[in-house]
Amino acid sequence: MSVTGKLLKVFEIDKQLRGLRSRLTSAEKFLSEQDKDLANLSAKREALDKQTKQLLADAHNAEMESQAVEAKMASIREKMDNAQSNKEYKAFLTELNTRKLTKEQHDEVAKEKRAHVETLKSQLSELETKVSERHQVRKVAAGDRDARNAEIADRVAELSKQRDVLAVDVPADVLSIYDRMLEQRGEEAMGSVEIEDHKRHEYSCGSCMMHLPVDRYVTLKVKGDLTRCSSCQCILFIDEASETAAQDAAKTAKAEKKASKPRVTSASQTKGLAKDVAKDVARDMAVKKKIEKPAMKPLAKKKDEAVASEA
Ligand SMILES: [Zn+2]
Repeated sequence: MSVTGKLLKVFEIDKQLRGLRSRLTSAEKFLSEQDKDLANLSAKREALDKQTKQLLADAHNAEMESQAVEAKMASIREKMDNAQSNKEYKAFLTELNTRKLTKEQHDEVAKEKRAHVETLKSQLSELETKVSERHQVRKVAAGDRDARNAEIADRVAELSKQRDVLAVDVPADVLSIYDRMLEQRGEEAMGSVEIEDHKRHEYSCGSCMMHLPVDRYVTLKVKGDLTRCSSCQCILFIDEASETAAQDAAKTAKAEKKASKPRVTSASQTKGLAKDVAKDVARDMAVKKKIEKPAMKPLAKKKDEAVASEA
């Protein structure tokens, strides 16, 4: 088998492997998205926790300050009750009013911090719900990934083994080019040669659809050496099945053209055909072919020597 033929076998296995793995890859991608979301939510929760703790500490400090001022105010009030003069009383009153303002400021700060804590607590609660929901989604995603992995594991192992065996037959330098193309272009790593017009030697690359010089086709057809498209660099191969189909289609068109002319069939040939069919029904198709061929010959000779020799 030619190098291209061997490579094509590896390529067929790789396409199957990629197809199998693509479903797993999408499940893995979805799972990793859930993990990423969970990590983001966790980071947010951590930040909110930290902020809440800081606010609580600030509120507590403000409350402590307020209580200290309150104690001081109580002592001033006591002193006011025992004031010896009107002047002394007024001095205590001024101090009391100043302390009162300070206390109010501490109270205000404490109130603001506590209110902010409440807002954060409600945000945290919403976040907890999201985290819990995300955990559920992640659980399903992980199950899906595991199920898909299990589904394909045996087949992947089997195909991988087949690939290893086939790859041994491919020369290392060719395999290295192929592996690189597979990585870069995926299922476009190899492209079939499209026959535009066999008679006019018009061929194109099945991958990028660009015109191919006839020598690429000849090299592939005759030697099967590693041949690449000069436009997209894919490794070219000849799809024998589609080539045969194209040739068959051309033959059918030719035959249809001939059939439009009157057929020449001798009486003895018709008699022989009837006899053979009666003899062996199982060989019916083969016999028909044998008999129909000579019937075409005289016409073909008359019409076109080249066509007849091809047929
Ligand atoms: Zn190409």
